[in-house]
Amino acid sequence: MPRELHDGFGRGINYLRISVTDKCNFRCVYCMPEEGVAMRAHDELLSAEEIAHFVRLVAPEGITRVRLTGGEPLVSHRIVPLIEEIRAIDGIEDISLTTNGALLPRLAPALREAGLDRVNISLDTLNADRFTQITRLGRVEQALAGIDAALEYGFEPVKVNTVVVRRMDQDVLELAKLSLERPVHVRFIEYMPIGSSATSPHCGAGTSGCSGSTLNPELWDASDVVPSDELRELISSQARAMGIGALAPVDESAPYGAGPARYWAFPNAAGTVGFISAMSNHFCSACNRLRLTADGQLRPCLFSDAEYNVRDALRTGDDEAVVALYRTAIAHKPQQHDHIDGTQRFMSQIGG
Ligand code: SAM
Ligand code: SF4
Repeated sequence: MPRELHDGFGRGINYLRISVTDKCNFRCVYCMPEEGVAMRAHDELLSAEEIAHFVRLVAPEGITRVRLTGGEPLVSHRIVPLIEEIRAIDGIEDISLTTNGALLPRLAPALREAGLDRVNISLDTLNADRFTQITRLGRVEQALAGIDAALEYGFEPVKVNTVVVRRMDQDVLELAKLSLERPVHVRFIEYMPIGSSATSPHCGAGTSGCSGSTLNPELWDASDVVPSDELRELISSQARAMGIGALAPVDESAPYGAGPARYWAFPNAAGTVGFISAMSNHFCSACNRLRLTADGQLRPCLFSDAEYNVRDALRTGDDEAVVALYRTAIAHKPQQHDHIDGTQRFMSQIGG
């Protein structure tokens, strides 16, 4: 049984989110600039072997759960062998992946065979034109086919992630209704200021480029956040009006994977509807995670730009130095992020 390390505030750290690539086949308006993010030189990025070696070193330190993300993790050619390697590591109990779903129909059998346990698929609208506006490069059928493939190949549970941005005017009830017939868990996430660097002006009176239909992750605007409570009321009242019935809270012990979402469900639904209140109700006190960026920087907090360079330590071949850095990162995990000033990196570069 690995001993779980605790940070300075008593939180046990057992969850590692790994960005396997900065690259993406979509360009979601709230996540990336239209031109994409600057490409990093190949040797700046961790290889699959380096990522797996890092997981091997931190599993005995208490990491039991690994999520692979990006960028889009399925554009990486090494994703299947990487999952195989991580699956073989003692102590890793749960491997999950966050994806836009587009490549899932093709890759689902190999991912399952490699040992992937479960997937989260991002889907922000069911409207075909809006989907292409939001993702710039995607088609809604791709994400829907990804959800079908996830169910068909037995990933469990299948979660759908929807980032809600007021200006995007999304069909939230239609999305929530995906949980009626199928065992999917649709989670609505509050829009966060990621990639809006501390030196950029956030939107406010007189800031240009903030209004209008085009979002820019570098100009995050607080008025675009739809608080979870407001959204839940809206979905519930629309559902009642349609005769579906209101959302009711789901037993907290329901097995959906530990995380910050709070789950609700329509009467007799096969799945659930979750809310992740990243902005209106910080869940820092229960934060059990660290992030590893594609270029090998360990981040103790999504919102803090403090990073620990494990890539260089890995490349010296000094395993003890890598573990020491890992422990230092945990020791310096901030208690909370009170004042959100944005981050230097975009979400696709941190690993959402
Ligand atoms: N490409 C994959 C995908 O879209 O699922 C994985 C990476 S993506 C960065 C991970 C998650 O972060 C997605 O669910 C995405 O919607 C979410 N995300 C990106 N930018 C965000 C923001 N500013 N606020 C909240 N969530 C965001
Ligand atoms: Fe790509 Fe995911 Fe960001 Fe969309 S949210 S641009 S799919 S990394």
